[in-house]
Amino acid sequence: SVLLEELPKFVVDEAKLVARLSANENPYGPAPKVVHAITNAVISGNRYGHGDAATLIDMIAEKEGVTPDHIMLGPGSTDLLEKTAIVRFKEGGNVVSADPAYMSLINTAQSMGGSWKPVPLMKDFSHDLDKMTEAVDKETKLVYICNPNNPTGSITDAGKLKKFCDKVSVKAPIFVDEAYLEFMDNPASQSMVSLVREGKDVMVARTFSKIHGMAGLRIGYLVATPERIKNISSMVRGTMGLCVTSLQGAIASMKDEAFLTDCKHKNQECRAYTMSSISALGYEIIPSVANFLIFPIRMDGQEFLKEMYDSGVGIRVFNIGDKPWCRVSMGTMDEMKLFVSTFKKVTA
Ligand code: PLP
Repeated sequence: SVLLEELPKFVVDEAKLVARLSANENPYGPAPKVVHAITNAVISGNRYGHGDAATLIDMIAEKEGVTPDHIMLGPGSTDLLEKTAIVRFKEGGNVVSADPAYMSLINTAQSMGGSWKPVPLMKDFSHDLDKMTEAVDKETKLVYICNPNNPTGSITDAGKLKKFCDKVSVKAPIFVDEAYLEFMDNPASQSMVSLVREGKDVMVARTFSKIHGMAGLRIGYLVATPERIKNISSMVRGTMGLCVTSLQGAIASMKDEAFLTDCKHKNQECRAYTMSSISALGYEIIPSVANFLIFPIRMDGQEFLKEMYDSGVGIRVFNIGDKPWCRVSMGTMDEMKLFVSTFKKVTA
C-alpha cells in the first residue's frame, strides 16, 4: 500500500529562506492591478463586504456558465474543503479518495468521526477510477478527487473522470479539487464544472492562491448545485470569513487575463528546466501539469530537508511507499537554478 506521511517539517524561519519552494505558491503574484485594487479597498474596511462578495459571485458564475446560486465563496479553498467535510461527516461515514492525495478534506472528515478509504493511484499516477467505483458503498458520504493531484502533479483524463462522476455521483456526491487546473492549457476542457451545469451532484473547488498568486489573501470558491450550496451554507457561512480587500483584489485579478497567462507560461518554462536538470542526474520525476514536481530521493529524508533548508532552499519531503520524495514548487527561474545547484551540492 502507498502510505503518504509528511515528515515532521524542519523548524525554520521561512522568511530567512532565499528560495521558498515549499507550499506551491506563485512567485509572481499578486498582480500589480490587484495590489492597486487592494490599496484602494482598505478605505472601505469599516463596512462588511457583502456587495463585493455579490459582485465576485456574479463574475465567477458568468465565467463558469452557472447562476450565482451555484457559487459559494470562502477564505481560500481550504475553508470550503473543510466546511464540506464538517457538514458531510457530522454523522460519520467514509470518504473515498486516491492515495497519495491532498489531505485537508480527508483529515477533517476523520476528525468528524469519518473514516478514509484510500485507493492507490495507478502506475501512471492517475486515479484508479474502477477501484474507486468499487470502494464506494452505503457508508460513503463523499468521493474526493484532486485533479491535478497534489502531491504528485499528475492529471486524470477529463473524459474518463467525467464518465466516473456521471455514474458514481448518483451514489455519493463527488468533490473535485481543481486548485492547480489553471496551470494547464485550455483548463475549461479539463474541468468537471460542466457536470454541475448538467445538475449532477458534483462540487468543484477553485482557489485564487495558485495561478492568481494570492495565497496569503485567502479567497476560493465552490461550484455546486444550488441544493448542495444551500445544504453546506445552512450550517456554515461562506462570505462572512472574507474581507473587502481580498474580495476587491480577486475581482481585479479575474479581469487580468494577461497576468494569468504570463504566470502560466513562466511556470511551464521553470517546470521544463527543473524537470530536465533533475532528470539528467538520473532521478525519475512524475510528469506534472501543475506548479510543482515530485521525485524519490536517494538519501535520508530528514537529512535532505535539513541540508536544503540550511542552504536557504525550502522544499517539502513526503514519505510515499516508505521512501522519501522531494516535492519542489516552481519559483522564479533564478530560484529554480538555485534549487538545482543546491540539490546537486546536498546530494553529492
Ligand atoms: N487544494 C489543493 C490540492 C492544494 O494543494 C491546496 C494548497 O496547497 C489547497 C487546496 C488549499 O489552498 P487554499 O486554501 O489556499 O485555497
